[in-house]
Amino acid sequence: MDLTYTAADLAFRDMARAFLDANLPSDLQKKVRNHLRLSRQDYVRWHQIVARQGWSAPAWPVEYGGTGWSATQRHIWDEECARAGTPPILPFGVNMVAPVIMAFGNEAQKAHYLPRILNCDDWWCQGYSEPGSGSDLASLKTTAERAGDHYIVNGQKTWTTLAQHADMIFCLVRTDTSVSKQAGISFLLIDMKTPGITVRPIIMLDEDHEVNEVFFDNVKVPVQNLIGQENKGWTYAKYLLGHERTGITAVGRSKRELLFLKKIASEHFKHGKPLMQDPLFAAKVASLEIDLMALETTVLRVLTRESHTPGPEASMLKVRGSEIQQQLTELMVEALGPDAMPFDTDYLEGKTDHAVTGDDAAAPLSGYYFNYRKTSIYGGSNEIQKNIITQMILGL
Ligand SMILES: Cc1cc2nc3c(=O)[nH]c(=O)nc-3n(C[C@H](O)[C@H](O)[C@H](O)COP(=O)(O)OP(=O)(O)OC[C@H]3O[C@@H](n4cnc5c(N)ncnc54)[C@H](O)[C@@H]3O)c2cc1C
Repeated sequence: MDLTYTAADLAFRDMARAFLDANLPSDLQKKVRNHLRLSRQDYVRWHQIVARQGWSAPAWPVEYGGTGWSATQRHIWDEECARAGTPPILPFGVNMVAPVIMAFGNEAQKAHYLPRILNCDDWWCQGYSEPGSGSDLASLKTTAERAGDHYIVNGQKTWTTLAQHADMIFCLVRTDTSVSKQAGISFLLIDMKTPGITVRPIIMLDEDHEVNEVFFDNVKVPVQNLIGQENKGWTYAKYLLGHERTGITAVGRSKRELLFLKKIASEHFKHGKPLMQDPLFAAKVASLEIDLMALETTVLRVLTRESHTPGPEASMLKVRGSEIQQQLTELMVEALGPDAMPFDTDYLEGKTDHAVTGDDAAAPLSGYYFNYRKTSIYGGSNEIQKNIITQMILGL
């Protein structure tokens, strides 16, 4: 495998950079680079800027609005977005439910939902996990009973990311209780405005409202919102999880954060010298950088394979990607020590121009550190990914 960019790839990179220089609003860039909180409007605004350029779903087939870019070009685009500091294009629509609709949905579903996902007309959230059904997802209890041309949905989802903003939720529901766990699950698309849905916030360790509980009380869902066949939802659910795990790797963002770490470690002093010149600290940064380079190479290897359907390698990428993201936040907090302590919510939410302590780089970091404990849990916990690796890659 040749990892050198061709002249065409370099020209593509220049084009991507020029687009980002001209189109990324400076207020969004400032929020992302400084680890401040993004609003619903911030995410939608950036998504729609990219959509106008036709680039909001680079990996989709061209017939549905994808770009036709090669895997390397898509990687370059991700890298350039991360380098510039764009808000992320949230995965729930573009990378999660859309591939399922393309692979298993009917023509009417494709025609209705895909253009709306491309343009972020609908904000999607993911209704998989339930209390008691996270790792053991197939044990989920939310039911959907057929009543004429509707299903009646009852139950509860939890940890539903940004459901407070969502227009639509894709849900795993139990449609047959008389068969084995996996065999009785279906995949439903549900309008969040349907009567009977209640969204209740869960406040995370960083005091942010990022996840929710979602309750369904006799929610009427039209039968045409079923994806594929009734009771075949487990197959579609697993297909989606492969796409989710590849996306969590976030190499580009980790590269930007590594630069940020080096910058703060160069600007803060220990025993009269910049921290980056402390051999022990520098060794930790170097070790992390090597891990990140190795991960990037592995991502490229997976991306450039003939078949782009993610396999068990997605679990490897998820584990290493999430560990590296966590280690970056750990070293940032270590570098700044007590300066990283404040929880300055007004500054994080853009209500004040500067942090109450005066150190704008340091103020968001402990919140960031606590928030990123999530990366080894969501998308399937790292312990579960290691089980998949031992069984499906190592054959143990
Ligand atoms: C910030 C955040 C956002 C999330 N967003 C969403 C979302 O939008 N939609 C959604 O559906 N879900 C979401 N989740 C849920 C996430 O997928 C689950 O939390 C995850 O799958 C783990 O399930 P659990 O929390 O029920 O933990 P459990 O399954 O109860 O696991 C508890 C612990 O036991 C370990 N464990 C469990 N089984 C095994 C085993 N067989 N072998 C070894 N160890 C095991 C786990 O690794 C974990 O450490 C989110 C979670 C977080 C933290």
